[in-house]
Amino acid sequence: MINSGVVSKSLSSAGWKSQFFSGRRLRYCFLLVALQVLVLSCSASPEQVEQPNFLVVLVDALRADHLGFHGYSKPTSPYLDELAAGGVVFDQAYSHCSKTYGSTASFLTSQLFPTIIRVEPDEEDRERLGSILKKKQALNVLSPSRPSFLEILAEHGYSTTGVLTNPNHHQYSGFPSLFTKPIVLFEGRTPGEREPYVNGRTVSDTYLDWLAGREDKEAPFLAYVHYMDVHWPYDPPQELARRFVTTKGKDRYISVLYRGGGPPSGNDLENMVQRYDAEIAFDDSLIREIHEATLNHCNRETILIVTSDHGEEFMDHGGLGHGRTLEKELIHVPLILHSTDRFPVLRDPNVARQIDVGPTILELAGIEPSGELDGQSLLFRIEDSSKQIPEELLASVARFRSLFSLSTPDWHFISDTKSDSVTLYDNQLDPAGLNDLALEKSNKLQELHDRLLPFVTLHHQAVLRGRQLRENYLANGLPDAPTDETVAQLRALGYLQ
Ligand SMILES: [Zn+2]
Repeated sequence: MINSGVVSKSLSSAGWKSQFFSGRRLRYCFLLVALQVLVLSCSASPEQVEQPNFLVVLVDALRADHLGFHGYSKPTSPYLDELAAGGVVFDQAYSHCSKTYGSTASFLTSQLFPTIIRVEPDEEDRERLGSILKKKQALNVLSPSRPSFLEILAEHGYSTTGVLTNPNHHQYSGFPSLFTKPIVLFEGRTPGEREPYVNGRTVSDTYLDWLAGREDKEAPFLAYVHYMDVHWPYDPPQELARRFVTTKGKDRYISVLYRGGGPPSGNDLENMVQRYDAEIAFDDSLIREIHEATLNHCNRETILIVTSDHGEEFMDHGGLGHGRTLEKELIHVPLILHSTDRFPVLRDPNVARQIDVGPTILELAGIEPSGELDGQSLLFRIEDSSKQIPEELLASVARFRSLFSLSTPDWHFISDTKSDSVTLYDNQLDPAGLNDLALEKSNKLQELHDRLLPFVTLHHQAVLRGRQLRENYLANGLPDAPTDETVAQLRALGYLQ
């Protein structure tokens, strides 16, 4: 059972803001006022056309190939299958990182490499930050130098709410400030307990409470709802466990990932996959519930977007979990757009980038997509599926530590810049990415390497920018220490050792 001890805080009440952040906000406020004046003075502004609501659902750690509409044989996703059959599916959608922080930083800002400040406090700060620094861990603080699409939406009158449930999105992470009304939800369990994150039932209830009680019912909204259930530990509700889990086995996640244990037995692995699948079915049912409730509750059209931040590995490449590699099972994610009557039924087989979702939302809202965003709207592909897509939009880039990947319609190329090793898969013949062709197709390597190189440079520039800002950041004081609950949750999920 889930206790009701939900912590709900907004950044504005969290007790800290560096001068840097305050300055950025202030600039946006001026921009907001200027834009509102402009809107009021224009009689035919796009804002006078009815703007849709957006319900953006992200299921953490959901790999695309475990969903029915992507060909999975088990009934994990009856509702998502329904949505896919009546909406738009981007069959080759990629996230930009195989861990939550990096992936959602790109997704929620529509910037490929938003500035992230690594906060590694000195001795004086060590005491203030307490247990989080015992092994020299750093905190990541998102600090994009350009407005995110969420902030642009808010400037055009949208209420933006994020039900933030991943511990990476804690009140000091920089994520809550992307939203006009962030709701940071952590369960507050101690390490060692089975569920280090808030259960999806509570996530849905929180969203539904917000929906029923929101203050400005006339304003359009974007609500971002982040479900964690599919993330390890896989602990589905009993009824779903009875349906999906038929093999007895042990949970070997921690043992394999962190304790040097050997690979799981066949039964152990099957048991883990079955429990993972049951969690997908759980979140599928929750998405049905909140989507239907939203449609019933709102007169205004609601566009639903469902995706994930990264996938999950089950020994596909010799490991478990996520965040070690950029193989297909970790960055190929679902991406569905659904509206009751706006879109045609469409399966787009081409590569789509998660940074493209933000500009698509802006265009659907009648807002000119900003040149400051790295993504491009996908709407033209929906409205005219025969239209030629520029080649540069069909190459998705991901990064994790020294790894970079480039995914095109034909190839999935991974480069390890530290060891100088490369991997290459044929996306057409080997969609799961299991047969490395780097030796056989050496003629393709240079071409893909040359396409990837500018992105590696951009990433390094973003890292340098983060380091420079870090100096300002440290000069203005560090945030207050994260709560013990946050630290415990980050540890329990494997984000901190
Ligand atoms: Zn995640």
